[in-house]
Amino acid sequence: MKYISTRGNNQELTAAEAIIQGLAEDGGLFVPESMPKVNMAFIEGLKNLSYQQRAVKVLSQFLTDYTQTEIEGCVERAYGDQKFDDAAIAPVNMLKNVSVLELWHGPTSAFKDMALQLLPQLLSTALKKTKAKNEVMILVATSGDTGKAALEGFKDVPQTKIMVFYPDNGVSRIQRLQMVTQQGGNVAVTAVKGNFDDAQSGVKEIFSDKAFNARLNEKGVSLSSANSINWGRLVPQIVYYFSAYADLLKAGKIKAGDQISFVVPTGNFGDILAGFYAREMGLPVKKLVCASNANNVLTDFLNTGIYDRNRDFYKTISPSMDILISSNLERLLYHITNDTAKVAGWMKELAETGKYDVGAEVLARIKEIFAADWSNDDATKAMIAKEYQQEKYVADPHTAVAWNAFEKMADKENVIIVSTASPYKFNESVLTALSKDIAGKNEFQLLDELAAINSFAIPEGLGNLKNAEIRHNQVVNKSEMTKAVLNFALK
Ligand SMILES: *Cc1c(COP(=O)(O)O)cnc(C)c1O
Repeated sequence: MKYISTRGNNQELTAAEAIIQGLAEDGGLFVPESMPKVNMAFIEGLKNLSYQQRAVKVLSQFLTDYTQTEIEGCVERAYGDQKFDDAAIAPVNMLKNVSVLELWHGPTSAFKDMALQLLPQLLSTALKKTKAKNEVMILVATSGDTGKAALEGFKDVPQTKIMVFYPDNGVSRIQRLQMVTQQGGNVAVTAVKGNFDDAQSGVKEIFSDKAFNARLNEKGVSLSSANSINWGRLVPQIVYYFSAYADLLKAGKIKAGDQISFVVPTGNFGDILAGFYAREMGLPVKKLVCASNANNVLTDFLNTGIYDRNRDFYKTISPSMDILISSNLERLLYHITNDTAKVAGWMKELAETGKYDVGAEVLARIKEIFAADWSNDDATKAMIAKEYQQEKYVADPHTAVAWNAFEKMADKENVIIVSTASPYKFNESVLTALSKDIAGKNEFQLLDELAAINSFAIPEGLGNLKNAEIRHNQVVNKSEMTKAVLNFALK
């Protein structure tokens, strides 16, 4: 299977090449040129397999240039070896009124692990397959969660290095501790004096500095990013939609062929788009419900066909969804229209005016598959309290946004809420929502407080932070970032 750009240049790449390159030369995203199809026998065949085995079956449909053995190796290194605290990796928790697909049992307790554990393995294998000589150095600017998940994923992966920049005064104490205690022989973590924009614009400048990149190339190092537009980050996420369906089949909650819906807390549109791919492949999906917080640009788009990022930006209690440009939407537009010229035009309008309109016909096709809803912080907190009362289940704020959308659905039959973070990662908001007194308590006391009412224990990666050794204490000015990258590249 070949991969092409959503914007229509004539590049045709293998999966391995697309994963190494990341973004197409015309600025578009790589998509499979055709959609692999599976039948019900394939889906029923997943029922009695482990998550890893299911992953191999689904990934093989897309990564046709990887051998079976290569895919098995990647999957084992990503999801094996007790890196996840639940043997099911992405278990479906079947509660009284609804089922919850838990995507936060990985090393950093958030859904980013599902993709960022596998992407480095796919990349490292791709470098070997294509006999690439350079070492790939991943640069990440992070406001918290992605940086840690990327560090855990790339730690000690051959032919790669990772350097993460975080704002000196822009991450929570737990997030900072998670990063500065990072282990691994190929990792660097550096604080940048300033806020997230300083760190991010610093990294962007380094990526676009041609002379600097050429100099690194001469030394055998290529820079790359781990962000969610890489095909290698999207494809791992298709697996858990199949896995969830297989789990419901196995539990006798549905019969083969029954349609199910997923409600997905959405930011960059990667998670929910993976559900779209699963549906296009043949998984019986009725609706994909896109749940947003107050940054509800996608709710408006899915209701009107007009994408308009010219609006206020809100900092919410579900920060991983505080996004006004959802990059992966471009892939959906391509698959719905099959028209690269149209997609390129809309993306040009978005870049120039912050706005585009896909028109009534395209919108109608999208609405056959997608629905949308949003909730503000007050509604989200109220939801955390309400469903805790009903189900004794502690949801994090991102999951609660989806829960709210679920509550408002007319047809509640066979619905799965996709849960994207452990509540322990957002203990302050969660405890406040549950009317607990948090005044004067530090992060570790809050973890204990939450543990007293949650049926899940404190994740090891968070609990262990209290005594973990600090291994990274470099702090730089924005102007010193390039030098820091160079020093680490040559190390
Ligand atoms: C990244 C993230 C999301 C949003 O997922 P997208 O693929 O960007 O739509 C939702 N919840 C949490 C906890 C996340 O980390």
